[in-house]
Amino acid sequence: MKQTDIIFRNANVLTMDEEYRIYNPGAVVVQGDSILDVGSESAILQNYQSDQIMDCKQKVLMPGLINAHTHVPMTLLRGLADDLRLDVWLMGYMMPVEREFVSPDFVRLGTKLACAESIRSGVTTFVDMYYFESDVAAATAEVGLRAICSQTVLKFPSPDATYYEESLEAAEAYIKEWKDHPLIIPSIAPHAAYTCTDDILKECTYLAVKYDVPLHTHIAETAGEVEDIRKEAGMPVVPYLKKLGIFEAKVIAAHCVHIDEGEMRTLQHAGAGVAHNPSSNLKLASGFANIKRMLELNVNVGIGTDGPASNNDLDMIEEIRLASMVAKAASGDPTALPARQSLSMATSLGAKAVHIDHLTGSIVRGKRADLILLGIDKLHNSPRFHRDPEGIYAQIIYAAKSTDISHVMVNGKWLMKDHELLTLDQEALIREAQKYAKKIDAFLIEREQSVLSKLIAIGGAMEEESFEVQAKVHIKDPDKIIEALEQDAIEVVYTRHYHEYDTYFHFEDEKQGRLRYREDEFIDKRGEVTNVRGRLTLVGVTREKAFDHDVMLSRSRYYAPAIHSLRFYHEYFAPSGEMDIEKDRRRFKIKYKGVDFYINLDTLINPDLGHFLEVKSRTWSRDDANLKSRLITELIEYLGAASEKAETQDYPDIVEAHLNSH
Ligand SMILES: [Zn+2]
Repeated sequence: MKQTDIIFRNANVLTMDEEYRIYNPGAVVVQGDSILDVGSESAILQNYQSDQIMDCKQKVLMPGLINAHTHVPMTLLRGLADDLRLDVWLMGYMMPVEREFVSPDFVRLGTKLACAESIRSGVTTFVDMYYFESDVAAATAEVGLRAICSQTVLKFPSPDATYYEESLEAAEAYIKEWKDHPLIIPSIAPHAAYTCTDDILKECTYLAVKYDVPLHTHIAETAGEVEDIRKEAGMPVVPYLKKLGIFEAKVIAAHCVHIDEGEMRTLQHAGAGVAHNPSSNLKLASGFANIKRMLELNVNVGIGTDGPASNNDLDMIEEIRLASMVAKAASGDPTALPARQSLSMATSLGAKAVHIDHLTGSIVRGKRADLILLGIDKLHNSPRFHRDPEGIYAQIIYAAKSTDISHVMVNGKWLMKDHELLTLDQEALIREAQKYAKKIDAFLIEREQSVLSKLIAIGGAMEEESFEVQAKVHIKDPDKIIEALEQDAIEVVYTRHYHEYDTYFHFEDEKQGRLRYREDEFIDKRGEVTNVRGRLTLVGVTREKAFDHDVMLSRSRYYAPAIHSLRFYHEYFAPSGEMDIEKDRRRFKIKYKGVDFYINLDTLINPDLGHFLEVKSRTWSRDDANLKSRLITELIEYLGAASEKAETQDYPDIVEAHLNSH
């Protein structure tokens, strides 16, 4: 008889091994951090003895669940912004709030909160991607869970790095520090193809290969992402990443919603694992990953909850059930993804997908003791049939709840016993989380009150506030003005030709001004469009001062460039009204009496309101404004437009007046 640390007896043991062996009554022997043996109760009790023999009272004893993709510190952002499109949610809310609040302290608290929730749902390993990942790792190790902790690298400034070079350096130092930890597997996470540059993706691959750690990234989560990459690189996401060489690393690819069969084969050949996130894909309406086909092609697929801000919980039992249901519904085949197979995605197959099946994922001799106990005798899971021994999988996947999990052990150490968390103070964590929620609430409430601060939140100001002296005249014949510009007193510095599509957003509170989204098409001498650029401008409505002859001093703020779509801005700013104006613009930069002016010759196409002459100059002082307003009056006379009708309004007002008169 061999003396051992712990023996679990009288259990319904689901090994999730290659043969899906079930032992009932079964027993498992734990020695130190590992599984020493597993088998029928009688065989085990004949060979082993222990001071700690635990009667499992016919509960299911199975390998702990693997959450293959999440962002654990985002527990602190749970419920902050929901029911939005992915880009508005991510770029408009998550990233601005993260830039403001995410710190090592935030990350540690969020991680512990997530650990508590994860343990309660039977998770013994999670695969994370976030900022300050060494703090995620430290908090996780302190709690005692196993995790692959991936340090994010992005092309944008992030909470832990202004430049990506900094995150790469930090990532390398972090990987070196945690490389041989018994619970933590450090890893690197280029966030996604669309949020990284080629260089970032290559450098991350280099580090992942050099230190033999997983590379964790998001792949083809939305159709829009695939379209964008196709436009830029001329191919779908997986071939694009393959060309950059990332599959030389041990890749964990989250989502893979929009990949074709060729891409699935590429992933399979490369030994890359897929993390399927059904809740997140459903909630963000990203689409349905073709898991059925991936499994047929022998791709290793795991299941993840994704971050708790897009799920909104870390309940793996629910996630496995959804994976099963979604696969059936999406394929129209009720036999797709049966219960045993979906459970394997959260255990043995999931471990393969995240490249740690030598450590965990099944109850097999030599693997770490990552075990959970789950009761199947509750009201919602009664009665029990014995005709089909495999019915147990359906009981777990379709009827069990995470609250049925009573015991969790990781690496041979208890983290939960009889529903009691042993390494965390749950109530204290909830109190601390509430303190953060209060601060984040205050920040967002203030931001939402001002269009300007919302604008700053998503990209920051490129140009500061400026003042302009300007005049606008409704003219009959623009050719005459072009002729007049050839006179000696005027020096034309350059000319440009654009086709401009403007959308003005109005807000209930008029003091907010108007936000203009402009798409400029540059037109060359042959009349062809050579370039397109988007710009956002917040235009103040208040006129600072009117000079003689309808020359106005106005204040405007410029923010450029507009990197998101018009649809994004529409949803993010939620204007109370909007107006489209399309015009042809010939722009002249000129010098008159030594002073720079811009002359715009505009033809309003939509609505069709004829031709306008606009003369403008930037100004910063009162004296300068006075001088320039006089020169503008002179210029208008000089160009022969003084007898035409002067307009004291901006185009949106002119258009509005026109619409009201009809
Ligand atoms: Zn994610």
